[in-house]
Parts: sequence; structure tokens; C-alpha cells
Amino acid sequence: MDEQPGCCIEEGGNESDNSKCAKTDSAAEELSLNPWFPCPGCDRTVTSLVRSGHPHPGKHHYYSYTHCCLTCESGSADPKHSEDQWACAGVPTSMFRQAKLSGSAIQSHYLLHDPGPEAAGGVPLPAVLFLHGANTYLYPETLWWDLRGLLEQNKVAHDEFFIVAPFGAIGEPVARASTWTKANRFKLDVPYVDSFDVDATWETFLRALEALGSRVDLSRLHVMGFSMGGQAVWSLALRYGSQLASAVPMAACCKWPEDAWASQDRIIEEVRRLPVWSYCGEQDTRTVSWRDFGWLADRRGLQTKSSESLTSHTELGIDSVIHDWGPDLSLTLVRGTRSCHCIWDMVFHNEEFFGLFRRLQMVRCDTPMESVEDGLTPFPASCEGRQKRQKQKWAGALVLVFGWSKLHVLHVPCLLCGKCCALPLNVECAQQTDQSSSESRLWTT
Ligand SMILES: [Zn+2]
Ligand SMILES: [Zn+2]
Repeated sequence: MDEQPGCCIEEGGNESDNSKCAKTDSAAEELSLNPWFPCPGCDRTVTSLVRSGHPHPGKHHYYSYTHCCLTCESGSADPKHSEDQWACAGVPTSMFRQAKLSGSAIQSHYLLHDPGPEAAGGVPLPAVLFLHGANTYLYPETLWWDLRGLLEQNKVAHDEFFIVAPFGAIGEPVARASTWTKANRFKLDVPYVDSFDVDATWETFLRALEALGSRVDLSRLHVMGFSMGGQAVWSLALRYGSQLASAVPMAACCKWPEDAWASQDRIIEEVRRLPVWSYCGEQDTRTVSWRDFGWLADRRGLQTKSSESLTSHTELGIDSVIHDWGPDLSLTLVRGTRSCHCIWDMVFHNEEFFGLFRRLQMVRCDTPMESVEDGLTPFPASCEGRQKRQKQKWAGALVLVFGWSKLHVLHVPCLLCGKCCALPLNVECAQQTDQSSSESRLWTT
């Protein structure tokens, strides 16, 4: 979402800086206890940022302290809300959810889009974790605008996906504050946001899935985000990618964790098979790291040089330059948008040209979590647990092949010694000769 236009000048007298600080501290306390409140005049839930952290307790000319907006507070029936959307700080209560996270005293809040129990014929649906940009930290109500635009413009997303959109806003456990400051809606400098907290964001997603129960297909979980949210998508992929069906980072490159070098074996296990489809502005060069794509391609055994193709969308007045390393690794550079950074709405709102959600529909995770509790295991244990389960899966397949081979008088290699074996797994190996092993090898471990 673009920056808020104009500024809000408070009414009231001149107060001292000390007075401002005292009120700001108590407001921060109030905000942490009640970051949202229900509007008494309508069906919206309102961010407490409109009545916290400002220096003037009297009436404000732009925001209501009690309602979603001054229009709603006035009791107006038509229009019900301010025609300036920036003046209404509410989001639909019907989409508003909260989740208790382990180890956190405060609730995590998110918006949920639910296509309904009849969607797609009632089968379990895929789910998307939708992560916003940094500006939403100060204006959490704008998350709804982003989601509303997607749902209004993209029928596939609307009809066939659960969408979970956490608020990475002031006071929320999924947001990590920065050491630098930015002016808030009342023109007061406040600590700005650094990033999404990856583990808390992941847990919020899982708690949302838990609440949806069997209506979600756990083999079809996707993470998608733009700008700060795009960076979080990369971070989630490095830690939880083996449980995902795809990752779609937009307008962001990967911010590698400090221990990335030491953890690279675990990281590669998370992303080796994960489809990564990234979108950036062609001129937004700071958000593209060619080295990262080359590294991923190399570790997947692909050519490190991409193939390049150009698609012109004359109806939209833009071009897409698509760099492909394979069907599961691509970077689409969008050319011709008004802002070289804010390209995500172009992709979200033009499914007929970009086909992003159709693409998501087609893929499934090879190693999905078996339950939400399973997915809650923190990294790197989650990675190790996944590897262990994968080995068990292979062992199970091997036992089946072994049984089949006994019937068909064939030999298969032992999972433990790699040589031809005539006994079940996990018992003492009856090794055959190297020659018979090499002739009959069906699997490698
Ligand atoms: Zn209202
Ligand atoms: Zn309103």
C-alpha cells in the first residue's frame, strides 16, 4: 500500500515534551493490552493506534478515538464510513481473528479469508500465508485494503484458497521493532519495524490452520509476501520450506541469517525441492540477488545460468522478463509499472496474465506436515524430524519392494549397508557379493 497522503494535525494546546512522553508510555501499555477494539457503531474492528500514542486526548480532526472513523461516530447512515479511506481505521470483524502463541503473553492477530465450506466442491483447500510490507506496521488497517484488492480482482484466489494475513503491526508478536524511528499517523517519531519474526509468523499461520481443521490440505501450504513480507517469505523458506508447496517472494531478496554458513546443509534440505517463484521490479535492482538464484540452481543440480523470455502485456502496458532455471525456480522481472518497487498488485490483480494462483493450485509438498502440531517443531528440529520421516518413508517403500522382490526372486540393496540383502531391514545384514549388489541395485540411500 502506498504511503498515507497528507498529514494529520492534532487539535489542542501546546504540551510539553515530558507530557507527551508520559502519555506515549501509558499509551504503549494500553496498546499492548488491547491492540484492537470493536467499533460500537458498525461491524469493524479498529486498531488502538488511533487512540494511543498521540499527545492530545481531546477530539481529533481526522481520527475517531471511539469508533472506526468520525463518520461512523456521527451516526451517519450514508455514507456509513469516511469517504477518505485513510480516515477509517477499521477492518471487517468477520475476517478478524486472533491466536495465542506459545511463549507469548500477547495474542497474534490476523485476517482470514475463508472461501466457504462449499468451495471447490467441499474438498480440503490450499492455504496461503500472505505477508504485507513495512508500512502496515504503522497503519495495520491497510492490510485489509491489500487483501480486499486481491480478493476483488483475483477470482481464483477468492474462490479456492484460504488466505491467512497476520498483522505485523506495532504491538503484535509477529513484528520485530527496529532501532530507527519513523513518524506515525500523529507525526510522532516511534520505533519503526525491522522485519517479521519468522517463528512467530509461522506459528500464527499454523494456529490459523489448526482452527480450520480438516478443511485445509496440509500438502498445499504456500507463503507469499511483498517487500518486508517478501523478505519474510525467504526466511520462512529457509526454515520451513520442506513443509511448503511453494514460496512466492515479491520485491525482496533473501536476508540470510547470521548462522547461514554453519546451517547450510539444513537450509538446503529445506529449499532443495521447494518451488520458488519470485517477482521483482526490473529497475528495483536492490531487491534482486542473482547469486542466491544461482546458488539455489546449483544445489538443485540445475544450470546456474537462466533462460530468459519476454512477455508483453499490452493491455496492462507492461512487460515481464522471465528468468527460468527450471519449472520450480524462476524470477519474473516486471517492467513498466508506475513504481518499480510496488509490482505485487499488478501480479495479484491480473491472474489471466500472470497465472500465479493457478500455478499454486497445481503443486503439492512432497513432505507435508502430518498435523499442525508436527509443523510447530522449531527449526532445526523440524528439519531433522522431516529428514527422519523421509527416511522412514523410504524404508517403508523399501520394505514393500523387498517383499515384492522376494516373490519375484530379485535382490534389493540393504538400507544399512548398501549391499544386497536377504533379510528385513534393521536386523543383521546377510550381505551378498558386491557383484550381485551392483547388478540388482534399485535404490540408493
Ligand atoms: Zn464503525
Ligand atoms: Zn469507518
